[in-house]
Amino acid sequence: MNAVLAPGLYIVATPIGNLGDLSPRAAEILRNADLVAVEDSRVTAGLLRHIGTKRPMTPYHDHNAESVRPGLIARMASEAVALVSDAGTPLISDPGYKLVRDARAAGHLVVTIPGPCAGVAALTLAGLPTDRFFFLGFLPAKQQARAEAIAEVASVRATLVFYESGPRLVAALAALAQGLGDREAAVAREITKKFEECVTGSLSELAARYADAPPKGEIVIVVGPPGEAPAASAADADAALAEALTRLPASKAAGEVAKRLGLDRRTLYARALELK
Ligand code: SAM
Repeated sequence: MNAVLAPGLYIVATPIGNLGDLSPRAAEILRNADLVAVEDSRVTAGLLRHIGTKRPMTPYHDHNAESVRPGLIARMASEAVALVSDAGTPLISDPGYKLVRDARAAGHLVVTIPGPCAGVAALTLAGLPTDRFFFLGFLPAKQQARAEAIAEVASVRATLVFYESGPRLVAALAALAQGLGDREAAVAREITKKFEECVTGSLSELAARYADAPPKGEIVIVVGPPGEAPAASAADADAALAEALTRLPASKAAGEVAKRLGLDRRTLYARALELK
């Protein structure tokens, strides 16, 4: 039995570049874990070296997760198992959610040690609205699947966050401009590292800027929400009212159309009486 940590699963966020971002609590958990489930043992060995420790590690990644998960779940009954990814928060475009699901189903303790996440860090740099955001992870690599994925979110009234790589950046920006319109956006690169930068502009400006020299390193694209929809015209309102009046009394028709088109109910009611 571990003297410091209760048995269970510990989800540990690790730095996305700057090792100084490892929290003291994350370091404490990693130093005391009985086992660390890792994406790449070379990457995590470096992190453990940085905090002056060595712990037993076992690989847990997309290619072996199905086969090793039951063994890890079994060990959580008596051991403290930490889950890390190569960088940032496990489960965010990284493996882990099924491990959490099964740990919960088995009744084990599940603890999170929050910390760096590239998508959230990019949002803080971009200067775009943060009240509503939609994280989409990596877009599909193939052109048609990518266009379909973009079309699916074109009407979402939120800032969009994508993970991307340097070589695919320009194509992704161009596809986003085409599918979403030329919205305000930001390309956040190498966050917390020596060459960190965050370049802002419209999607087409950003595509043009990087066209000749695809950037190196790790990238997050942040795209602002769509502009306000144009207000419904008087003709739109009349058409909607006329249709609603075929089914509803004037007051209900006005209420329904007001809600749908975002217009004033009393004005619509007066107009409905005129139309009747
Ligand atoms: N779980 C991680 C997190 O919490 O952000 C993300 C893992 S995902 C496999 C890796 C992607 O995250 C990279 O391809 C890049 O898009 C983004 N990323 C990771 N580190 C970054 C950094 N320092 N700067 C910009 N983007 C980064």
